[in-house]
Amino acid sequence: MHNSRHSSGRSNLVRTRRVITPKPRSASEAGSKEETLRWVALGGLEEIGRNMMFFEYKDEIVIIDAGLQFPEEETPGIDYIIPNTTYLESRKQNIKALIITHGHYDHIGAIPYILGKLGNPPIYTTRLSKEIILKRQDDFPNSPKPIFQIVKGEETIQLGKYFSITFFDVFHNIPEGFGMIIRTPIGKIVHPGEFKFDYDHEGNPKGLDVWKKVGEEKIHTLMIDSTGAETPGFALSERIVEKELEKLFKSASGRIIVGTFASLLDRLAEIIKIADRLGRKIAISGFSMKSNIQIAQNLGYMKIPKGTIIPLEEINKHKDEKILILCTGAQGEPNAALMRVANGEHRHIHLKTTDTIILSSSIVPGNERSVQNLKDNLARQGATIYHYKMLDIHSSGHAPQEELKTVMKLVKPRFFLPIHGYYFMRWRNAKTAQEALGLKSEETLLADNGLVVELRKDSAKVTDEQLPAYYVMVDGLGVGDVGEVVLRDRRTLAQEGMIVIIVSISRQNGRILKNPDIISRGFIYLKENQEMLEEIRKKIRGIIGRIPAHQPLDADYLKTLVRDQIGQFLYNKTERRPMILPVIIEI
Ligand SMILES: [Zn+2]
Repeated sequence: MHNSRHSSGRSNLVRTRRVITPKPRSASEAGSKEETLRWVALGGLEEIGRNMMFFEYKDEIVIIDAGLQFPEEETPGIDYIIPNTTYLESRKQNIKALIITHGHYDHIGAIPYILGKLGNPPIYTTRLSKEIILKRQDDFPNSPKPIFQIVKGEETIQLGKYFSITFFDVFHNIPEGFGMIIRTPIGKIVHPGEFKFDYDHEGNPKGLDVWKKVGEEKIHTLMIDSTGAETPGFALSERIVEKELEKLFKSASGRIIVGTFASLLDRLAEIIKIADRLGRKIAISGFSMKSNIQIAQNLGYMKIPKGTIIPLEEINKHKDEKILILCTGAQGEPNAALMRVANGEHRHIHLKTTDTIILSSSIVPGNERSVQNLKDNLARQGATIYHYKMLDIHSSGHAPQEELKTVMKLVKPRFFLPIHGYYFMRWRNAKTAQEALGLKSEETLLADNGLVVELRKDSAKVTDEQLPAYYVMVDGLGVGDVGEVVLRDRRTLAQEGMIVIIVSISRQNGRILKNPDIISRGFIYLKENQEMLEEIRKKIRGIIGRIPAHQPLDADYLKTLVRDQIGQFLYNKTERRPMILPVIIEI
């Protein structure tokens, strides 16, 4: 997935799960036990996004992916959520590698925040992912300079004493994604990266040989992305998407504006190719899209004839029917290009009734409302709008059920470990594996973030050992400095409003000097609630009046009294709990 933003995940914030800090095993303990490979996901198992997992065998650790998750309703004002790396930080000398499966933000986004904390381990990835990671590092001058080891399909590398990894190419919606066979002392584990099938012009899936070859080895455990596990059937072929887009482009009489993800590089390449074929010039609005297209061009993934891409400022120099504009913001992100177009705030793009707008991306769960808003605003201006539900102009990058089943049957693992996605998605994926492979339910492993899964030669089980996996929130450029208290305040302010109580008190005798001032924001409109206002004032006078006059004034204690008692009073009256900010002024 990309740009994931969703609205569940509440559980992560309120759940108090027993956190065991694992004690180092003594040599005798480890020796007496069967050799164990430990696997833990630090994110990605209870959400879409924030993908990060690691393997640990004796004193060696291999990490796969380090993604971020976009914020949700329960985390207002937060930029990103990243995986919790506490456990890994305490063992950073054991980390042999950070392997990045592909260049999407839910797999690379946490890198600048955690690289330093993990002792800057070498990053094993492909050329394209490297460029995308490097581009992002520009914004983080304090993050260490990453050390890259470029790998490609069919290459095998040795990591430490215990891990040997063979990469294989998979098809996703960004080029250069890979899967891996991870050879360990207890057996071979397959991580297929994120993938979907690519189809030829006859509609036959391509690249099945790769999976067949993987299946020729005896595979202990197969992990699989569960994002598409609830979707029946096969993926819509990109060939059909391409055909439909071409049809649409041909029928447009004015300008074409396409909104999609900056990370959907394959789709962007398709669109540019068709536009060029139809003689349209292409202008790009959105920094991330521009830089991704540049990277793809540099690496030869997009061959765009000179003069095809024009600066945005020049769109009016060409006829409308010769222009296609690519925009970020198909998810209704407030500051992205398309939203600014919709709101009439874009510097260069002003909508015309002859414009055709195409939203070529699915809606990430949680973004439904902002996308609705976006479409409404665009439609109000009289443009013609198409989105993926009306036409086959988008195909997900994640394999749906039948494709998943095909891979499961070709790989034939002994154990199945569904990854990436909410519990229900992974549960569905596990069911698919049970049907496809005849596995028993205990042979399909449903873990949670932070739960240790133990893999041995002839067994695999989810233990109850829990490593820290609670949210780490990034606010601006600060990491983890937004605690649960700050978030709770933001939620309270958003949902219940606030009330400020200003009390002036005589330093000499502790008496109230004038009637308390009360300011309310987002709670109740005080002007229309004079009665309540008077009652609050009376209450405050009562609270302060009951403090013996000879007692020295304790402002903190007084604030607590006011907060608690006025809070309770307001709750009784209104069943709401606004934030109460008492201010005591001693005169
Ligand atoms: Zn992806």
